[in-house]
This record gives sequence, structure tokens and C-alpha cells, in this order.
Amino acid sequence: MAELSLTRGRMVDVQIAQRGIRDRRVLQAMREVPREAFVDPDFEEFAYEDTPLPIGKGQTISQPFMVAYMVEAAEIDPGDRVLEVGTGSGYAAAVMSRIAGRVYTIERHATLAEVARQRFDRLGYDNIEVRAGDGTKGWGGAAPFDAIVVAAAGPGAPLALQEQLDVGGRLVIPVGNDPDDQRLLKVTRTGATTYAEEDLGGVQFVPLIGEEGWAERPQSDDDLPRTVTPPARGQSLPEMIAVAAEPLPDFRDPAFGDLFDRFADRRLVLLGEASHGTSEFYKARAAITRRLIEKHGFVIVGVEADWPDAAAIDRYIRHRPARTAAEPPFQRFPTWMWRNTDVEAFVGWMRGHNANLDDANRMVGFYGLDIYNMSASIAAVLRYLDHVDPEAAAAARQRYGCLTPWQNEPSTYGRAVLTSGYRKCEQAVLEQCQELLARQLDYARQDGADFLDAAQNARLIAAAERYYRIMYYGGADSWNLRDRHMFETLEHLLEARGSEAKAVVWAHNSHIGDARHTEMGTIRQELNIGQLCRERFGNQAALIGFGTDSGTVAAASDWDVPMEVMRVRPSHADSYERLCHDSGVPRFLLDFDRDGALRNRLLERRLERFIGVIYRPETELRSHYADASLPRQFDAFVWFNKTKAVTPLGPEHAGKDVPETYPFGL
Ligand code: SAM
Repeated sequence: MAELSLTRGRMVDVQIAQRGIRDRRVLQAMREVPREAFVDPDFEEFAYEDTPLPIGKGQTISQPFMVAYMVEAAEIDPGDRVLEVGTGSGYAAAVMSRIAGRVYTIERHATLAEVARQRFDRLGYDNIEVRAGDGTKGWGGAAPFDAIVVAAAGPGAPLALQEQLDVGGRLVIPVGNDPDDQRLLKVTRTGATTYAEEDLGGVQFVPLIGEEGWAERPQSDDDLPRTVTPPARGQSLPEMIAVAAEPLPDFRDPAFGDLFDRFADRRLVLLGEASHGTSEFYKARAAITRRLIEKHGFVIVGVEADWPDAAAIDRYIRHRPARTAAEPPFQRFPTWMWRNTDVEAFVGWMRGHNANLDDANRMVGFYGLDIYNMSASIAAVLRYLDHVDPEAAAAARQRYGCLTPWQNEPSTYGRAVLTSGYRKCEQAVLEQCQELLARQLDYARQDGADFLDAAQNARLIAAAERYYRIMYYGGADSWNLRDRHMFETLEHLLEARGSEAKAVVWAHNSHIGDARHTEMGTIRQELNIGQLCRERFGNQAALIGFGTDSGTVAAASDWDVPMEVMRVRPSHADSYERLCHDSGVPRFLLDFDRDGALRNRLLERRLERFIGVIYRPETELRSHYADASLPRQFDAFVWFNKTKAVTPLGPEHAGKDVPETYPFGL
């Protein structure tokens, strides 16, 4: 509990005060009310993250900052009578009750109202009254109110609520149908029949359902509260995409690479992927990268992989001797991500390219950007936990597999909840990781590497404990740490290869598309390599996303379980993917800079699909879709309507005449 109250204090400082909430009474109330008591016990550890959380009935407890923002706007004074519409978990009512004289709160779901009532009783908050019903009609018997706060978005400010304000009273309410286009409105009653209105900015809320709200709609997984703007008169969006799309030729056709010459003057070209197991994404990235290396002098290929594994490939393509006694690379889950026929072909090409060069400085290098040794460490952690505490091991698998930034899956949070054994294992696990790192760095010293010099080693060792501790617990912190690390490694590489050096990066769309324009940035304060590259390099970085409608993908249903070839469901009706599909052009490049009108029309946020090494078609909407603004996230988008799973390298692919240093031996 003491730990949670510290976290609560930090939450108020970082998420609330630093973002501009000044009212000391609001800050004090937020320090006082235990948010963890308003979520399921399983979600306690997430209670102080900057995010709404599920509370059942498809509803959420609001993001802490939003609660503070609305309560401050309502200007609640000690002794005030306050009405809240949308009790939800009861958290916001509890916060207001620490300031006001009395709080009346109405919730349309009777079960939520009842659970909130029990929470108030348990906490001894006896100045709150809860009622189940339609809050758009207000609470006549208790009016007039000094303040009314509505926690769901209506079509406008309900008249009944305006009338129940005392003169001088304030009503704060989100307004708007489209979740991407709601505004927070403050209405102040200035006289018996006069009101003043103020716009407090854009917000996102669930709909206010009721007589003076929206009509109830059937809710299902596929029916999230979202609307899609109908196409304007004239051309539809898919038609506009069809016109702007530049069709892609066969991968072997040199014209494929030519199309990407427009990005050749950038220092960094970041190439994404919408899954970790789609052949077309690998083939396309290889074709683009070959062109950038051959014709435009790019010398760095930085990939979403561990340094030691990528280093084995690097030695092979630079015709250096293999490391003695090192285990073959990419032997751990998810093996297919790098041990596949497309990567093998590209590696062969890089080796051939380098063979023709005398100057080592002009040779292309292949580097792993990920946290040094990450997959080996994860494998070691799981092995250890399997042995000493299988329950903790199960939670660890969930955390590694599922707590990815685009996912918003309450059931996943539930399963990834920590057991007490998990915490007990922490120290032993850290020691294992440290040992592993020391061993790996010993190997690396044999490389006489150009880049992984003593200073880099020292940096890794100094940061390792922090890395492993955060990785062990997973979640938002580990994501940010990992992406910062990848970005810093990229910066070191650029420095090491000289001031003119240019790099291509291969990583998932979630790493390379600017996080500020996806749910990662807007809701969860997560960042990524794409964002950091734009912040540091501006226009010198090109961010190129990839997408598909349907076909097959290589993925697993859980962390560490065998790969399967799975069918990808056709794209969701409200997604960017569906617009691309409906264009009727099977494969294309969409350059957002070339068509301002189309770019503008695509800015409005929609769903985008993210498949990682895990794919769960059965809960696809929740597990794999997130809101994003595609033209802000990327500079260009590469589309393959139908795609196929990668082919993992098996014994049948083992070449007979491969050199001794061949890295894909089994
Ligand atoms: N204030 C809540 C908290 O702190 O947990 C969060 C509220 S949640 C974002 C919005 C709530 O408004 C939902 O629980 C929803 O059921 C409720 N709601 C929607 N329309 C309503 C109405 N007409 N009357 C009462 N409650 C309503």
C-alpha cells in the first residue's frame, strides 16, 4: 500500500501537475483518493498509468489527467453541491467529494452504480449519493448545483442540466459524436436565463446515452463507439487512393527500387512492417534496401534484432571469420523473424555486394538495434521461472507476448498480473541476465569490432541492471526504454560509420511510425524510434509504413509456443487497410507528400492493424487494431493487398556449398 501511495504521488506530480493542473485542492484530492480501489484488484498495478482502464459493461475509468482537468474546470469550492453524470467506477465522484460539500452521481448501468456505492462505503466517503438512471435529465430533487460534471460525450449540453445549475454554476461536458472530434465544453450560468460557453479543447469519451444524449446502439466487439465520416461529394477515399497509388512492379524488376529513389537523399530511411511474418514485407524491404545501398551509398542496415545475432550475419557478409564457440544466431523465439528464406536471400546479396568492394568503409554492415542480448535474456528468464515458479513463468510469457503498446486487451492485463513468486524471483533473474551479458561481451571483444568498442561495452554494463529490471516487469516503461535504446544504438552507428553515413532501418510499424500520431503517443505516452528520428533528424528521416488486407502470416498464438501459418482476417471496415483494399489496386506505394488533398482527407484518425509475433484472429479488433493518423505517422505507405507467410529456414534449405561462416546452419 505504501508503495502504491508513492506511485500515486508520482502520478500526481508527473501526469497531473506537470501538465498544467494548478488547483491545489484538486491535486490534494487526487493524492488522497486511492485509484487502485476503483479498479479490479487484478488491475491495481496499472492503476497509476496514464490511461483509462476497463471497469466492465464496456465502460472505462477515466484517465487521471482528464478527471483532474474536468474537476479543475468545474471550479469546485468547499461546501459546493455537485452533480456527476456517469459514475462509472466512482473514482471522479470520490475525487470531487474530497473538495465539495456533497456529490450526487448518476450511472445508467445499475451494476456499476451498485459497485461504486460499495466502494464509497468501504472508503468511508459518506458525502456521496449514487443513483442508477439516465443522468441527462439531471437530479431534480437535489438541484440547484454549483457544478455539474458529465463523464460521457453527448450531442450538446442537455437543457435539463443547464436548468439545474445555480446562477454562477458551471457545467463541464464533452460534446460530439465522432470520438476523434469531441470538444470539452464549459457552460456557466450567468443569470436566470443567460449562459456563457467556453471551449476547453479536444477530448475522447464514451457516448452519453439517454433522453438528451444519443440513442442506445447494440454493442459488440465490432461496434466500438466510433463513426467514420462519409465520403465528401465527388470522389470517394478509395477512388482518391487508386488515383494517387503508384503501382509496384515485381520485386526482381529494378523499377521496384527506382520508385524509392525519392527518399535517397535522406540520411535515414525507416522501413516498417505490419507483422513479423509476412514475406512481401521482407521482399519489398530487401528490394528497396538493395537499391539504396547500390545506387545511393547507404552502408548501415539496422534491424529490430539482438546485437550478437546480427553480428554473426555482419561477419558473414563482410567475409570475416566466424566467432569461435558462439552459438548460431536467431535460435530463439521468434526464430522465423530472421531465419527465413527472404532474409537468407538478402543476406546472400549483401555478401555478394561487399565481395566486390576493396574499401571496408564502403561495405554494408548489418546491425541489431535491440537491447543488447534481449531475446537471450528473455529465454533465460523463462527457463529459470519454468523451473522455480511455473505460475510466474506463465505471467512472464504473457507480459513479453502481449503487453505491446497498441494492445488494449483487458483480458491480457488480467492474465499478466504478477504473482508473489514473480517478485521473489527478481534478484535471481537479474543475476542470470548479468552473467549472460558478461559472457556475451567477452565474445564481442574477440570481434575487435568497429563499433562495439570499450565505451559502448561500459555503457551497456552500466545500464544493464536497469534494463533487465524494467524488462522483467514489462509494460510501458520497457517499451520506451527499448525504443530509446534502439535509437541511441542507431545514433552510435551513424557516428561510428562517419559523418556521411546513411542508414536503412527495418523494424515493425509500431517502432518506426511516429508514435505521437497513434494511441501509443496520444493515450499511453509511449514513444518510438520513428518519433525520435523525426525529433533529431527532421526531414532527414523518411518513415515508410507497410500494410496488407488479408492472406497468411507466420505467427504464434502465445509467446514461446510453436509458429503457425495463420490466416489473416480481411481488414476491418473502419480501417485504413479497408480503404486501401477498396482502391482495387493490388500493390502500390502511396506517397503522402505527392497528393495534399488525399493526405488531408486521410488525416482523420482511423483503425490500423498491428500484428506482432503473436496473432490472435479471434479477438482481432481488440488485440491488433489501434487508432492512428496514417499520413502523420508515416511519410509514405506501401500496400500489398494479399500477402503470404514467410518460409522459415528448415533442414531442406541447408545449402551444400555454403562457406564455413554461413550463419544459418542448423
Ligand atoms: N467518472 C467515471 C470514473 O471515474 O470511473 C468514468 C465514467 S465513464 C468514462 C462514463 C460513464 O458514463 C459510463 O459508466 C457510462 O455507463 C455512463 N453513462 C453514459 N450515459 C449515461 C447517462 N445518460 N446517464 C448516466 N450515466 C451514463
